[in-house]
Amino acid sequence: MNWYKTSQNFNEEIPEDDFTEDYDPSWDYEMDTILDKKTLAIVEETINEINTKILPKIGMGKAKIYYIKDEPGALARYVNGTAPYPVFVIDINNIKGAVEECSKDFNCDLEHELVIGIRTTLFHELGHAIQDWMNFDYDEDETEEFARHYQDFGKILNFWEQE
Ligand SMILES: [Zn+2]
Repeated sequence: MNWYKTSQNFNEEIPEDDFTEDYDPSWDYEMDTILDKKTLAIVEETINEINTKILPKIGMGKAKIYYIKDEPGALARYVNGTAPYPVFVIDINNIKGAVEECSKDFNCDLEHELVIGIRTTLFHELGHAIQDWMNFDYDEDETEEFARHYQDFGKILNFWEQE
């Protein structure tokens, strides 16, 4: 097999809007390879929703998600500087831990809470990606409001046009 030719063809086939900065999260994080299908499906569906319903409206490219583990205290993170093709890392075990805490304290439904937890966490990180792309300072209240607004009403809160 001609590997050079093969890789060349592969490169040519990458659509322009699928370009992500040359960043590999395994440089900074421990990668998680053991994930249950149900949780994976929730994350992939959310990313798909972000890529089809949110990012095109803001004029940003497609987002990518990577699964990390053993990251103390982090549910998910937007990787600085990757916008307009935002890269997110997510720690499923930490999210599940937070969901379990919540169900202990408030007696909420685990499965439902996992969906809400994953979605709002990713929408929150998306808010940071938008702040980065718009050259805004990171603002936790702004991203939290953006995330809740989309989760509750399915609408994009254009905080960058309100300033
Ligand atoms: Zn934040």
